[in-house]
Amino acid sequence: MTDNIDYGARPRRIQKVIRGTPTSDGAGVRLNRVIGGPSLDMLDPFLLLDEFGTDKPEDYIAGFPSHPHRGFETVTYMLDGRMRHRDNHGHEGVLGPGSVQWMSAARGIVHSEMPEQEEGRMRGFQLWINLPAVKKMGEPRYQEHAAEAIPSVQPADGVLVKVIAGDVDGTRGPVQQPATDPVYLDLQLGVDAVFEPVIPAGHSSFVYVYEGELAIGGIEHAQRVTAGHLAVLSDGDSLRLKGMADDSRAIVVAGRPLREPVARYGPFVMNTRQEIIQAVEDFNAGRF
Ligand code: FE
Repeated sequence: MTDNIDYGARPRRIQKVIRGTPTSDGAGVRLNRVIGGPSLDMLDPFLLLDEFGTDKPEDYIAGFPSHPHRGFETVTYMLDGRMRHRDNHGHEGVLGPGSVQWMSAARGIVHSEMPEQEEGRMRGFQLWINLPAVKKMGEPRYQEHAAEAIPSVQPADGVLVKVIAGDVDGTRGPVQQPATDPVYLDLQLGVDAVFEPVIPAGHSSFVYVYEGELAIGGIEHAQRVTAGHLAVLSDGDSLRLKGMADDSRAIVVAGRPLREPVARYGPFVMNTRQEIIQAVEDFNAGRF
């Protein structure tokens, strides 16, 4: 006989664990492509996740000179280092440690992202999030937040969470995006510390461990994931994360899938091949 205890939840479990692929982008910046590479093409609505982390200036100094984007959002979260951003609409600024830039490229921007330092550590993440068809040709928009503007909460002993987007115990992150209703949390967990983030059911979700080790999933199905690995999660209505090493760190990211056709060509992500051809023509004609 099975017990009839109702835990009130379908816990999210690990569907698969992947490693990123070392690659280089921009003018030769070395990075680890976790989503958008051979191990995981995309996880609707997420199109790409790059981790960059190095103490060697030669790995980042060339930066990302002038390049376009259309049809989606880029989210840059800096852990260490400083990057200067400048676009063709007159928007410019420096992203410092702990800051977030959530950029809706929408109908198009041309920008550069260049290191604002010549030595020291550069570390962080860039995530690409798709936009629905009805928003792809909207006006470009930025949500930029310095480290001080990102709330930190301690939902349990040994757990520290920076809330970039989403909600933890009533503390809301500053970023709003109704199209995909994203969750973006940066976690630090001590040994045996347990955190149960609230992620809306139906959202695609993943955990990327970047330091230490976590056990991910319900008590009976927990699986250990070490730094440098991304866990793609099943759907469910709860999630349990437990620290397995001192000061383990991870990002937890979730969003509502768009379930639309994806036509993708480099920095252009549209719904149809015809729209990609149009994007290339518009870019070449200086219409971004
Ligand atoms: Fe860019």
